[in-house]
Amino acid sequence: MSKKYSVEKSRDEWKKELSEAAFRVLRKKGTEPAFNNDYFANDKPGIYHCAGCGQELFSSEDKYKSGSGWPSFTRPASKEVVETEIDNTMGMQRIEVHCSQCGGHLGHLFKDGPQPTGLRYCLNSAALDFIAEVNN
Ligand code: FE
Repeated sequence: MSKKYSVEKSRDEWKKELSEAAFRVLRKKGTEPAFNNDYFANDKPGIYHCAGCGQELFSSEDKYKSGSGWPSFTRPASKEVVETEIDNTMGMQRIEVHCSQCGGHLGHLFKDGPQPTGLRYCLNSAALDFIAEVNN
């Protein structure tokens, strides 16, 4: 990655700060196992933040049950919070999704989602910190 992000840290700093699972996803573009991650079945209201830099990324309002075993959303919380790039690894062409503030890898974007967007942001739970909505 040559692009500059507003939150940039060395590999060692990230390694020290993040959980092993978060480091593997955010900084090494790893993928966690389907159906064996924290949020794929989470249906509580709240906001999913970047586990690297804390930026608000996705809302429970846009989360849906894709059946994939990964947390899936039809759109980000706002257009500016995620960026995409073409990913030609694993013998296929996919669209990679990362945090616009720290560059941390979040997951992939597919065009088989439900209306109104037709999009599926397929994310790794380890890249996210969920903060439940507080009712008062
Ligand atoms: Fe981030």
